[in-house]
Amino acid sequence: MKALVYNGPRNVSVENVPDPKIEQPTDVMVRITATNICGSDLHMYEGRTDIEPGRVLGHENLGEVVEVGEAVVRIKKGDMVCLPFNIGCGFCKNCDKGFTALCLTVNPGMAGAAYGFADMGPFNGGQAEFLRVPFGDFNCLRLPPDAREKETDYVMVADIFPTGWHATVLAGLKPGNSCAIYGAGPVGLMAAYSAVLRGATKVFSVDRHPDRLALAEKIGAIPIDDSKGSPVEQILAQTGGEGADVGCECVGYQAHDPQGRESSATSFTWARPSPR
Ligand SMILES: [Zn+2]
Ligand SMILES: [Zn+2]
Repeated sequence: MKALVYNGPRNVSVENVPDPKIEQPTDVMVRITATNICGSDLHMYEGRTDIEPGRVLGHENLGEVVEVGEAVVRIKKGDMVCLPFNIGCGFCKNCDKGFTALCLTVNPGMAGAAYGFADMGPFNGGQAEFLRVPFGDFNCLRLPPDAREKETDYVMVADIFPTGWHATVLAGLKPGNSCAIYGAGPVGLMAAYSAVLRGATKVFSVDRHPDRLALAEKIGAIPIDDSKGSPVEQILAQTGGEGADVGCECVGYQAHDPQGRESSATSFTWARPSPR
């Protein structure tokens, strides 16, 4: 099959690689029809990780089930499925508590596994024609009948939408709250959208890229351009001096200050006084 292979820092290429096979009776084989490039892929692409050359990247995947192992009972050939990026077993102590990102079974000796990711097990990614999915009954989200026409929407469920949603959960957002969201990249936009869906009254979306701020406004957030003055002051001014009720930091560890100096604490520092 063809797959996107990591060769080294800033060097990836589409190569012919061996087709994945069903290795365990609980495996499912998926023919990938939609996959995203994630901001996290850049950590590996830019050489920030120790991922080994030869690995296939891609952890946000969707496609059609083409083969199932003998022990798979829920998922059937022909199902359209989305694959959340964390691989879990569904039955270990952590999975049982809902902490599937820290599964103790799939990556022995470490907690947690993911497709095509540094330090998350030996699993290949889905920026490829086919993907082997361990514990397929647990890891495949079976999609509704409109999966083929809306696959570019549903593939967001593999990572970016639930990641943004989870930020609003961690923030303790309740219906009626106002919410300040730092960063209007994919995670920040999905967090802003999630805050709207979860009943926030005012959602402030802080960024400085006009295209991102326009998208934030389109999904119901109030754009805050931090190139036009302190975002904290702008949010205080729009909340009667009180600040937002809750806040989400959605910039990430490559945050930089307005002068371009990388400083991972910048948006945390700003986000803190924005909520009350
Ligand atoms: Zn991702
Ligand atoms: Zn587990």
